Amino acid sequence: MVRLVLVLGDQLSENIAALRQADRAQDLVVMAEVAAETQYVPHHPKKIAFILAAMRKFAARLREDGWQVAYTRLDDPENTGTVPGELLRRASETGATDVVATRPGEWRLIEALETVPLDLEILEDDRFIASHADFDRWAEGRKQLRMENFYREMRRRTGLLMEGDKPAGGKWNFDTENRKPASDDMFLPRPSRFEHDDTVAEVLELVETRFGGNFGQLHPFGLATDAAQAEAVLEQFIHAALPAFGDYQDAMLAGRPFLYHSLMSAYLNVGLLDPLDVCRRVETAWQAGHAPLNAAEGFIRQIIGWREFVRGIYFHEGPCYVERNELGHERDLPALYWGAETGMVCLREAVAQTREEAYAHHIQRLMVTGNFGLVAGIDPAQLHEWYLAVYADAFEWVEAPNTLGMSQFADGGLFASKPYVSSGNYIDRMSDYCGTCRYSVKAKHGDDACPFNLLYWHFLNRHRARFSSNPRIATMYRTWDRMDAQRRQAILHGAENFLKKMDSGAQV
Ligand SMILES: Cc1cc2nc3c(=O)[nH]c(=O)nc-3n(C[C@H](O)[C@H](O)[C@H](O)COP(=O)(O)OP(=O)(O)OC[C@H]3O[C@@H](n4cnc5c(N)ncnc54)[C@H](O)[C@@H]3O)c2cc1C
Ligand code: SF4
Repeated sequence: MVRLVLVLGDQLSENIAALRQADRAQDLVVMAEVAAETQYVPHHPKKIAFILAAMRKFAARLREDGWQVAYTRLDDPENTGTVPGELLRRASETGATDVVATRPGEWRLIEALETVPLDLEILEDDRFIASHADFDRWAEGRKQLRMENFYREMRRRTGLLMEGDKPAGGKWNFDTENRKPASDDMFLPRPSRFEHDDTVAEVLELVETRFGGNFGQLHPFGLATDAAQAEAVLEQFIHAALPAFGDYQDAMLAGRPFLYHSLMSAYLNVGLLDPLDVCRRVETAWQAGHAPLNAAEGFIRQIIGWREFVRGIYFHEGPCYVERNELGHERDLPALYWGAETGMVCLREAVAQTREEAYAHHIQRLMVTGNFGLVAGIDPAQLHEWYLAVYADAFEWVEAPNTLGMSQFADGGLFASKPYVSSGNYIDRMSDYCGTCRYSVKAKHGDDACPFNLLYWHFLNRHRARFSSNPRIATMYRTWDRMDAQRRQAILHGAENFLKKMDSGAQV
């Protein structure tokens, strides 16, 4: 009897668990482009085009390899619009009653699959190093969930950058070497861009017609859409960017969105690259003397540390995680996140490149758009939807803990030891944005003061009860208390005025 083998749009690996368990001679692979997935948030057109093109090319490759694939296109007249609907349609066409699937990366879809009245087997997604059970075991009984401890366990388990049972170079973490600001005369590698093949051209047309109104530029489109192209991105990164990746990991430059970042998250997240393979290649480059240890360690930590860790958190915490709002922030997402004019150069840059590229690097997400959201008290659920919509790499298992946990402290500090808030100083130190800004980063209050300088204190002041005893920021409360009352008043008043103006829809 034929069995249905479900392959989702972020499961595009021949090695995915459901395909490994399936019988090529007999089973039917089901892949479907459905409205429910393209519309649950207003995804960036580049993200939609990337996923649909990668799905179509993956299905073609499976067919070449001898698989039977039932593929539903978005514009198929029979398309039921949901993944469960497509499974039921294929079941009634073939008489199949059994389905094998790999666990989706989103509670929403897991719950939807569980309602399908077919005999469904859901397999663990073992493209990750830590299974859910591994993470739960690690988390059990711990008072604090800290990435650094988890990461060391992943290093030991994979043997990456290990010399016996000791970390290579005698330290687990070289982050203190990874905070150099960039300067705009640096040589920066050019990211790989790919010509449109027929599949990509066809998908771009479809996306233009259906999703052209969403926030984000579809053209120019040069993302990798198959494993061979993603491999070329990896090669290019190791060759041209990895050696400086560590040093400039936190830097930001106007008009230079990529710096020395790998641009690999989207490819890793849909399955075009394998995380452990990528890390081994980076380790080999370090062993060959091509990249320094601070670069290799910094990169590998992002993948076997942060990437695995946030996934563990997402599944450990359950479906309600995305609703958390421990700081009670309720301000609506201001229009500047959707590209409305702003005089704040840092936000303008981060949003403009997000619109053009469906990409911003980590520090832009954390210390510009995230930091602003937090100090301005924006509703974390609205920020969560925004991040999920606008980045090509955004899937809930990785986006939600980063947004709600790391960036917005909406989970009350489940894994962040302090809120990631800063005044304009941090942005000024790490970027060239402030020099051309209409606001003055040096001014601490007054009409021209950098809004981060005002809102930073406003945040600390309104959350005093929660944070004043936090050892990592207690000194800031002492600084605040030492300021004269008039100055404090001017700062809070300036912050209130700024927020009022922003809420009214006026340009800030
Ligand atoms: C508010 C916020 C939202 C985010 N949303 C997403 C998201 O939807 N999808 C996503 O993949 N990442 C997300 N991140 C993490 C990180 O910003 C991106 O992974 C990274 O910017 C992708 O660019 P890159 O591939 O050039 O990364 P690089 O800087 O080259 O890093 C290498 C790889 O490490 C991994 N990585 C790095 N940091 C993290 C992290 N904090 N969590 C998980 N993986 C990490 C990624 O796979 C990345 O490709 C978010 C971070 C923040 C602060
Ligand atoms: S002055 Fe403030 S608002 Fe302007 S770019 Fe610098 S940090 Fe951003």
